[in-house]
Amino acid sequence: ATEESEPVKTICPYCGVGCGIQVNQGEEPGDVQFMPWGDAPVNEGRICIKGGAATEVVDHEDRLTEPLIKENGEFREATWEEAYDRIVDELERIREEYEPDATGFFGSSKTMNEENYLLQKLARRYGTNNVDNCTRMCHASTVWALRTSLGAGAMTNSMADLEESADVFWIQGANPGEQHPIANSQYFRQAVLEGATVIQVDPHANKTTSSFQIDETDRHQHLQLEPGTDIPLLNVVIKTILENHEEEPDAGWIDEAFIEERTEGFDHLKETLADFDKEEAAEQCGVPLEDIEMAAEKYAMANNAAIFTGMGMSQHTCGVDNVQNEINLALITGNLGKPGTGVNPLRGQNNVQGTCDVGAMPNVLPGYQLVDDDEARRSVEEEWGFEVPDEPGLTNVELSHEFGNSVKGLYVMGENPVVSEPDANRVIERIQDLEFMVAQDIFMTETAQYADVVLPATTWAERGGTVTNTDRRVQRMRGVEKVHENTKHDLEILMEVGSRLFSEEEFRFEDEEAVFEELRQVCPSYYGMTYDILGEEGIQWPCYELGDEGDRFLYEDSFDTDNGLGRIEGVTHQPPKETPDEEYPLILTTARLEEHYNTGTMSRRSPTLNRQTPENFVDVHPDDAERYGIEDGQDVVLKSRRGEITVEAQVTDAIKEGSVWTTPHFAAASANRLTNDVLDERAKIPEYKAAATEIEVGLEP
Ligand code: SF4
Repeated sequence: ATEESEPVKTICPYCGVGCGIQVNQGEEPGDVQFMPWGDAPVNEGRICIKGGAATEVVDHEDRLTEPLIKENGEFREATWEEAYDRIVDELERIREEYEPDATGFFGSSKTMNEENYLLQKLARRYGTNNVDNCTRMCHASTVWALRTSLGAGAMTNSMADLEESADVFWIQGANPGEQHPIANSQYFRQAVLEGATVIQVDPHANKTTSSFQIDETDRHQHLQLEPGTDIPLLNVVIKTILENHEEEPDAGWIDEAFIEERTEGFDHLKETLADFDKEEAAEQCGVPLEDIEMAAEKYAMANNAAIFTGMGMSQHTCGVDNVQNEINLALITGNLGKPGTGVNPLRGQNNVQGTCDVGAMPNVLPGYQLVDDDEARRSVEEEWGFEVPDEPGLTNVELSHEFGNSVKGLYVMGENPVVSEPDANRVIERIQDLEFMVAQDIFMTETAQYADVVLPATTWAERGGTVTNTDRRVQRMRGVEKVHENTKHDLEILMEVGSRLFSEEEFRFEDEEAVFEELRQVCPSYYGMTYDILGEEGIQWPCYELGDEGDRFLYEDSFDTDNGLGRIEGVTHQPPKETPDEEYPLILTTARLEEHYNTGTMSRRSPTLNRQTPENFVDVHPDDAERYGIEDGQDVVLKSRRGEITVEAQVTDAIKEGSVWTTPHFAAASANRLTNDVLDERAKIPEYKAAATEIEVGLEP
């Protein structure tokens, strides 16, 4: 490589594992090649199919290369000056004609900490807390439960300490074999090879099942439960542990000293389960009672047991309670605050953790400081020099419900709500009722098509900043120098809009490092980091002071709650809001594929990824297939009360009878045309994982 084309070290733009990769700049803008980064801190040079194909989107023919303004229903090319004028005029008009809360701001987990920090600052300067990001759709409930009961809305442990120290991996509603391939192959599988046991709790057998050969050995177990029965299943586990402790108080079923010294609420849990009927619950879950009891014993008797939790737990109207019950299990057995344990959400996108950390959420400022905490708000206001509204704003699904009503304007950075939100057909109808929408993105997404102004942004490989991975590691991304002539970095666009709407003093920064410097001042857990300190290794927050080295695991001495105690709280079964009936007798559940990523904006444009699974499909159990007369490979219509999609049936016993399983990645045939937009009351996450469905057959095989 010549001096100009020295490869730059950056981070894979896809999942939350945070693998380091290198990119090499060719002669022309967009000409960017992938190179491995041999001693990258997380992955040591290994990558999965997505990481290897990530550069394929950089020079894609569909890239947006000019600003666009819609006139008479059609886009025309515009100058940046025209586009900025239009954005500023419209955002000012909406604020004056209505109120600041009439505009919503969508940040993105595909963009960096600095960009999301500046977007949420822009929203708050505008006068609204209506700012959110797609964590709402994946782990809002997990973040809520972990923050409230333990202190921080993040993985309690880290991939490295789990590999070294965990004896049991309890994986519930997560599928690292598919979604976090390098975490699975490099860390978790290594631990299993060295003797760790895997308990998988999932309605669907998947790549995690096959990667650990869970179904083929006596050591591991797959508890294949009915969708939406996670609370009763965990209650059987907890009750089994409590009953055995009564019979054998010295056998170590629970950790009495830990419960006494470090937790509160144990009595509430015992009371909740006093009349709980394990046999009835096991039947409800569709799993033999003795299998659940055996799994309970393996977890309770492990030296160190770690829980992994995913969207199978979080994406329910009882998502907060689902995760609370995992916390209950970990707390009563003392499986927190030491290596190889914890409750560990596996985060989906490369910066979903960081987007939350920097405050792109309606209820928190940077560092999860509550907007309605006067003291916290005032300390941030002091740094920013303006007042922040003291009431939480609307979440992204709540904003979407208000399009055309109280919400008239929308600022979208790198998100695609028309495909990612549940009940997508209604989102498409409502988004057209907005008075003004601006979208900044690298492609003309399904959402951008409804925008009034579309701004061409640069890709992940072309800009610098920081991202925070699933185990809280803040790492630097570095961009190549040449970019398409008329595209701009998201940060540059936000700086310009903010400076024009408000002032240069508040929104003009020399570069991304200067933005990070301001972020540190208002985000206590990032205060001890600088770009120099992050270097190539990164740091796992919390990092409160310069010189702190960060933490591989949290809560060694106390929890980050007001009184330092971990909160136990008994919870009871809450069925999904829509259950099967005569008209829609099947239960639909959804999940992702390794080769695809969210709404497919990037992955469907990547030839390597797209050819693995070019079209959507539905998994149907053989007994259901026989009942409906469906042959493997036949096109079927999948219907719910909200819409229908035509997909190919895959007949497989990986799914339980009575359930069907499909994915959200393919816009026209997305699972979200069918999903239900009911929300968990506290975390406001939608119930993607359970909707009543019917199959219509009648198309030729
Ligand atoms: Fe990228 Fe995740 Fe694959 Fe690593 S495991 S290469 S971060 S998609």
